[in-house]
Amino acid sequence: MNEATNVFPIAPGDWLGMIGGGQLGRMFCHAAQSLGYKVAVLDPDTASPAGAVADMHIQASYDDEAGLRQLSARCKSVTTEFENVPAQSLQMLADLGSSVRPAAAAVAIVQDRISEKAFIQEAGVPVAPYVPVRSDLDLVAAPDTLFPGILKAARLGYDGKGQARVGNRQEAQQAFAEFGVACVLEALLPLASELSVVMARGADGKTVFFPSAQNEHRDGILAVSSVDAQSAGQALAVQAVQSAQAIAEGLRYVGVLCVEFFVLQDGSLIVNEIAPRPHNSGHYTMNASISSQFEQQARVTAGLPLGSTDSLCSVVMLNILGDVWFDSSTGGKREPDWSAVLAVPGAKLHLYGKAEARRGRKMGHVNVLGATLADAQAGAAQVAQVLGVPF
Ligand code: ATP
Ligand code: MG
Repeated sequence: MNEATNVFPIAPGDWLGMIGGGQLGRMFCHAAQSLGYKVAVLDPDTASPAGAVADMHIQASYDDEAGLRQLSARCKSVTTEFENVPAQSLQMLADLGSSVRPAAAAVAIVQDRISEKAFIQEAGVPVAPYVPVRSDLDLVAAPDTLFPGILKAARLGYDGKGQARVGNRQEAQQAFAEFGVACVLEALLPLASELSVVMARGADGKTVFFPSAQNEHRDGILAVSSVDAQSAGQALAVQAVQSAQAIAEGLRYVGVLCVEFFVLQDGSLIVNEIAPRPHNSGHYTMNASISSQFEQQARVTAGLPLGSTDSLCSVVMLNILGDVWFDSSTGGKREPDWSAVLAVPGAKLHLYGKAEARRGRKMGHVNVLGATLADAQAGAAQVAQVLGVPF
């Protein structure tokens, strides 16, 4: 059977399905529930951030047939928060008659860096110079121009995990032997900056774009995203939107999608990667946009019209990692001073309800709003000082 197409729009009061129980799933639940939906979350963890707020938690692994059947029986439409859900599971839900947004075919391309990069190039959009690495011979044959480079596991990486910076061929061979899985080797590029575009595309092909965010990473993990409400329409942002649109159309994508870009020192724009879901760099939309990325995900999953992506103000988003629970002088655990964070004008705190703070673990974020980007930056500097993180 093919996925259902005649059930849309799904009215508030009905169920929407979510595969994945992380913070993105949790924020989806909040947005869908505030539109009046009930959400069933499938996730194996007993204490997941999304499972804790869902109307129903199906505790099962992502490829558990009984769990997927239960989800499909309850939900006419299902979405995901996690690109590493097996594409076969998404296809199984479609075969069981649920609509799946995004579809298995699109997720399958994006969840493997080798097919992802090939696809982006076919869409006419440049990526970093790279070669697929399936065996040591691929590294022997790799051009010298890819060094220094980054070896990235083709599948299952996130937040810079499954990646190694390699200065030369021998280091790449060592890293490849350690990973023991298919990889891509890409050239380490001189980045001037990084930006991302979050967009939503409906089944009718209508597409909306949020203003592009300027992103700063630390240790391979997103640290800060900023959006200047006054700077929409700049040439680079326009080019990024055009590339994102070409990618979404090529994938015949239905859902929320993020395209991460590198801006090189010569001013050119290339795509780093695609996330087939809402993205950390789009969390600013929760407070600074008319509709958040999670509301868009709920709308598109339910087959409703997409919301406005217009900005309400400028914003700086600061990620809160588990590191801020560790005292910088003693290394002991402490609770961050939330009162002082919330005392900063324009600060909006979002915590994900994770029980244990670990270094490098995403625990929450703060959106600091301002009439101008300078105002938002001033507030963000205060929040960063309270949390003891650089800004
Ligand atoms: P995330 O889950 O946060 O998106 P990831 O594990 O998928 O991360 P990438 O997006 O591939 O990893 O890389 C993380 C960061 O490392 C990039 O945002 C960028 O700062 C840096 N980086 C990655 N590839 C390159 C490159 N080819 N040249 C220079 N810097 C790079
Ligand atoms: Mg990335």
